[in-house]
Amino acid sequence: MIITKKKDLKEIIKYLGEEKKVFLVGCGECSTTCKTGGEDEVKAIKEALEKAGKVVTGHSIPSAPCVAAKVKLELAKHRKAIESSDAILVLACGLGIQSVKENMRVQKPVHVGCDTLFMGAIDAGGSFLERCSACGDCVLELTGSICPITRCAKGLINGPCGGQNKGKCEIDKDMDCAWILIYNELKKQGKLNLLKEKRSPRDHSKTSKPRQLSL
Ligand code: SF4
Ligand code: SF4
Repeated sequence: MIITKKKDLKEIIKYLGEEKKVFLVGCGECSTTCKTGGEDEVKAIKEALEKAGKVVTGHSIPSAPCVAAKVKLELAKHRKAIESSDAILVLACGLGIQSVKENMRVQKPVHVGCDTLFMGAIDAGGSFLERCSACGDCVLELTGSICPITRCAKGLINGPCGGQNKGKCEIDKDMDCAWILIYNELKKQGKLNLLKEKRSPRDHSKTSKPRQLSL
């Protein structure tokens, strides 16, 4: 899931500038779960914008605005409201915002309502946890299913930096050292021999951007 946080209202109003009529687009998937772009948040921003003197012409919450087919269909349903607007405000991740921009038939300025933070898993307590950085060359098989690229503050792939203290990271003493977690996990699995394998430096060509994949 893509984790987002709401932008400050003052910042959004600054983006809108002189644009008075605004159409809102939310997200029925990740941003609804993150409470940044679901029904409640769209309603809240509508009220806040109206209080600030803006006119909200309508809203739409596509199930996944990052999917062209879905966002196109939703925007088509609201074409008249969009045509009558000065701008679109999107409460979704960077994928959703760009997808709205790329799939709009009517050309209108598109504004950003959320900051995109990371790809996250959700733990049993409902917290969002960064666990994968989409490196394109997964090493979890060798690291006890614990990602050193994401969970080690320095992204080290050949063992710890030596700064850990009692299992905590030298960068943040509240955070577990990823390499101590990896060591303990491999020990439990009887696979400590994996730590003796020297890994080549990461092949950054696998993350050269923008990446694209067609099936
Ligand atoms: S090694 Fe880490 S960042 Fe790379 S794909 Fe695997 S989990 Fe994701
Ligand atoms: S203490 Fe551990 S998690 Fe922190 S930077 Fe060093 S190896 Fe990485």
